[in-house]
Amino acid sequence: MDKKELINSGKVKSVYNSTDDDKVIIEFRDDMTAGDGARKEVMTNKGAYNAIISAKIFKVLEENGIETQFIDLLEPNVMLAKKLEMIPIEVIVRNIATGSLVRKYPIDEGTRLEPPIVQMDFKDDEYHDPMLNDSLIKALGIATQEEIDILTEKALEINESLVKFFADAGIILVDFKVEFGKDAEGNILLGDEISPDGCRLWDSETLDMLDKELFRKGKDNEVMDAYVEVYNRIIPDSEKVI
Ligand code: 5GP
Repeated sequence: MDKKELINSGKVKSVYNSTDDDKVIIEFRDDMTAGDGARKEVMTNKGAYNAIISAKIFKVLEENGIETQFIDLLEPNVMLAKKLEMIPIEVIVRNIATGSLVRKYPIDEGTRLEPPIVQMDFKDDEYHDPMLNDSLIKALGIATQEEIDILTEKALEINESLVKFFADAGIILVDFKVEFGKDAEGNILLGDEISPDGCRLWDSETLDMLDKELFRKGKDNEVMDAYVEVYNRIIPDSEKVI
């Protein structure tokens, strides 16, 4: 499988067409960004850690019956994936209140959210990813009600699987963001990545942060140690490639 032309260069990943028309090659770069890309640093091996962590999580989800775009890891930071037409919605699931939720609403930091909150944001840096609702999504022509319901159901299934998966590694899945896309037949599949870039992960004992929030808070020298900690806890030694 060979790389063809670049089709999308995001803040941290580059997507290429491949010699097989229905597959893409996703390169996870070492860039780390915050504030809609306003701040950017390069972190050694960050791309590989995120690609390997994402690949592991996608495999776990597939084992639990959730279809993803993941096919294979070609190199530590390069993923072969099914080609999807991405839906410009960031589906966020929250198990514990923190981040923008406590900044925008009268809810205490650390409140356990039962049932979890499912939130959908418009993926658009120019508009700063504003929160959507069903009628906005339909008015903008982004998705139908049936598709919104599928996204909600899939996001909650992913949450259920990953809460257990991370708990076994001594990690609390506080909240996370996922993105979906449609394959050539119109099926909705989980796409993009699930990594410490788009999840809040807290150590179950100490409640220490193990994710990109450290970078958002300016703790640049601690963030890669946290990513490596997540990698070490969830990737068995036999599957470690860096
Ligand atoms: P919040 O809305 O509290 O800032 O974020 C909620 C969750 O979604 C966090 O786990 C955060 O990492 C993730 N998230 C929200 N927006 C984005 C985004 O634009 N990019 C990434 N990588 N994650 C996001």
